[in-house]
Amino acid sequence: MNRGGFEALDPCVHCGFCLPACPTYLATGDESDSPRGRILLMRALEAGELLPSDPAVREHLDACLGCRGCEPVCPAGVGYGRGLEAAREQLVRANGLPVAARIVLGVFRRAVWWRPLLTMARWFRATGIPRALAGSGRVGFAMGMLDASKAVDRPTARPPVRPPDRPTAGPTVAMFRGCVMDALFRHVHDATRRTLEVNGYRVVEVSGQSCCGALHDHAGRADIARELVTRNAAAFAERADYVVVNSAGCGALLKDAAHFDDSPAGQAISAKTRDVSELLAAAGPKPGAPLPIEVAYDAPCHLEHAQGVRLAPLAMLAAIPELRVRRLPGSDQCCGSAGIYSLLNPPMARAVLDLKIQAIASATPRPALVVTGNPGCLMQIGAGLAAARLDIGVAHPVELLDWSYRKQGVVGSG
Ligand code: SF4
Ligand code: SF4
Repeated sequence: MNRGGFEALDPCVHCGFCLPACPTYLATGDESDSPRGRILLMRALEAGELLPSDPAVREHLDACLGCRGCEPVCPAGVGYGRGLEAAREQLVRANGLPVAARIVLGVFRRAVWWRPLLTMARWFRATGIPRALAGSGRVGFAMGMLDASKAVDRPTARPPVRPPDRPTAGPTVAMFRGCVMDALFRHVHDATRRTLEVNGYRVVEVSGQSCCGALHDHAGRADIARELVTRNAAAFAERADYVVVNSAGCGALLKDAAHFDDSPAGQAISAKTRDVSELLAAAGPKPGAPLPIEVAYDAPCHLEHAQGVRLAPLAMLAAIPELRVRRLPGSDQCCGSAGIYSLLNPPMARAVLDLKIQAIASATPRPALVVTGNPGCLMQIGAGLAAARLDIGVAHPVELLDWSYRKQGVVGSG
């Protein structure tokens, strides 16, 4: 019998080891906001003992971040994320989605919608108004998120001394551009390409790609995620040895592409997808110029928990002499961004974020930058730091390695 993913919850023995790893349980202390409590609700949902319209089912499953922080600590190997995906599909089929979610997911379904809107957001960001208005209210927080998407300031960077060397041999890597990353984080795409080329990869561009579908899948619209995966699988078919992704959420979805599309193209994109840190760590990477600054590494859930990539970002940062990198308490826990979660459930998203901001604020010595490899985390943490009036920036780890290479003069500005 096809149980649609609920079978992934079967190994749960209710031991409770996952509770301290769950950000929503830590924020509320309510068992129903824990993985163990939610698994009971999901089992009752599958068995028909609770209806999808039951307010408790909706409240506590909607409050789950989908961060999968409960998976690596589970001794029984429960596939929480797969079970949640099945439960959310059932809830959405029965109850529909809130209007805000329908609008956002509709926009990200087609580039003809998201590209002009995000381009306008980028232009607005360039005016400096979002930085001036960043604060703790709802509008101020949104402004802080937009401002946090810009490139990290590089006060010590020197002008490039020679143009980039483009390798003529070595593995080929196709850039996954995505939607938010392509519109608001082009500087991270540029840094990805330059650092990969320094380390011997040949980077190629691929047309016809779309949003990865992670936002849709997390919100319970696996059908739209499937449509987008199939589009990307076709675009990337036989284009390169690897597909490089610098957004943890997109990378997790693309590595899971075969779950949505088990055609040869779907299986190929699953097998070839790598986070940029994995490719750079595998190559060495080459050391850059010293950056004597204090940074805190914060692990994106969909890199650390969903992809199981824990050491590669740190190995990448270790190529930067004099960079002091630490992991602060709670650096493996969700920041509250979680796709469109922060839009739908702002109070819980802020409660979860506050725990992280407190850990950063009380760190000694205080970091100059928080580095993390996911756009949602960069924007959420950046906005949280601005709301707390902390003079701490945010950056993608690959930006720092690129900054180090540029300071050394091994790559140009292209
Ligand atoms: S999900 Fe895993 S860790 Fe949590 S209660 Fe079930 S078996 Fe225990
Ligand atoms: S996915 Fe995250 S928020 Fe949801 S139950 Fe697991 S740890 Fe808690």
